[in-house]
Amino acid sequence: MDFTLSPEVEETRLAIRKFVEERIMPLEEDPASYDDHENIDLDLLKQVQSEARDRGLWCLSMPKERGGRGFDTVGMAACYEEMNRSIFGPVCFNAAAPDDGNMYVLNKVATDEQKEKWLQPIIDGKVRSSIVMTEPAPGAGSDPGGMMLTRAEKKGDKWVVQGRKWFITGAGVADHFILLARTSDEPRRNLTAFLFHKDTPGWEIERRIPIMGPEEHGGHCELMFNGMEIPDENRLMGVGEGMKCVQIRLGTARLTHCMRWLGLAKRSLEIANEYISNRDAFGSKLSKRESVQLLLGDAAMDIEIGRLLTMKAAWALDQGSRARKEVSMAKVAVADVLFKAVDTAIQLNGARGYSKDTVLEWIYRYARQAKLVDGASEVHKMVLAGALAENGMDFWSWGNPEQ
Ligand SMILES: Cc1cc2nc3c(=O)[nH]c(=O)nc-3n(C[C@H](O)[C@H](O)[C@H](O)COP(=O)(O)OP(=O)(O)OC[C@H]3O[C@@H](n4cnc5c(N)ncnc54)[C@H](O)[C@@H]3O)c2cc1C
Repeated sequence: MDFTLSPEVEETRLAIRKFVEERIMPLEEDPASYDDHENIDLDLLKQVQSEARDRGLWCLSMPKERGGRGFDTVGMAACYEEMNRSIFGPVCFNAAAPDDGNMYVLNKVATDEQKEKWLQPIIDGKVRSSIVMTEPAPGAGSDPGGMMLTRAEKKGDKWVVQGRKWFITGAGVADHFILLARTSDEPRRNLTAFLFHKDTPGWEIERRIPIMGPEEHGGHCELMFNGMEIPDENRLMGVGEGMKCVQIRLGTARLTHCMRWLGLAKRSLEIANEYISNRDAFGSKLSKRESVQLLLGDAAMDIEIGRLLTMKAAWALDQGSRARKEVSMAKVAVADVLFKAVDTAIQLNGARGYSKDTVLEWIYRYARQAKLVDGASEVHKMVLAGALAENGMDFWSWGNPEQ
């Protein structure tokens, strides 16, 4: 087991660290840097993105010939963690959800023509994108294959879409959408993925759902589809291959969440460490108190456990495995790690931790979604129990990840 990063990845990681520290983190302190939903202001974002791009720190996961850097998943893990040391970080490098996962799946499964039309503008930073799957009850949530109500019906060479979706991240600013809809009532192969542009008639955003945390650009929206027509050429993969498409997207997309959340977790402890090293109480620095050390040491160790799970899953994906159990373990563990790290940091900062003088309260509110997005923790644990039942002692095998 060799955790050494390649020289190219290490050099890029350090360049990202420097850019985040010198250019992006100072922006967090200026209220003018924020939009109305506590994210980086869009005009400022364009400026910072162009600087990141000039430094070659753009779309690390995309092929070089399309303007990216062609990094493998291990390389992404090392770099994405550095990006999210700042709450504004990932989007400045075109590595934020949901664009990142959408680019990944389009690059993997779209036809060449589809890539040119739907993927390239996202890589170029000209448009944003959304993935449209979840529905309000009684529709698709944790169990999309069984519960999806949105239908696409074939009429000639077009598909006609009816239904309702919600919690669609970024829909308010996206131009390109990947939609999952039911195309058959069979128990399997019943969903199909489609691409549509925001200007297509027959759909609308009903509302931007108010949430507890800071928001991605374009918010989390509820959408209505009322007879929207999609030409068959905009179908992504085969009819009935919607779940396969989603699984391809989510394997890596879930793990990139973990990579970014680890960056936020480390930042939280960085803020805590600085405070306790300088703050006196009862005749000594807080950092000299054993009970304080226990809190910090425990959270630091958990972050490292999360990094190891994330790196193992990244490695397995790079070996061509679907890495289902590895990704599920990382997703469950890192969601908890993030929450614990920021909660610990708030506690150790005292009243300051509860204020808006640091980014801790921003991270705390953001962190709560980690146990829900891209599959609730309970559902991932169900997947793990299934893998254990199927594989027995081989659940914990070394090397040769399951294909
Ligand atoms: C901030 C945010 C952004 C999101 N962005 C998007 C997006 O861009 N596109 C999109 O399509 N969706 C998006 N979602 C939706 C997200 O993927 C779903 O919330 C998630 O899949 C869970 O579905 P649900 O909310 O319908 O929960 P439900 O399926 O209603 O489940 C509710 C709860 O029941 C429990 N549960 C469910 N199944 C099981 C089980 N088998 N065993 C034990 N317990 C179980 C879990 O605790 C779960 O949280 C987003 C959600 C959030 C919070």
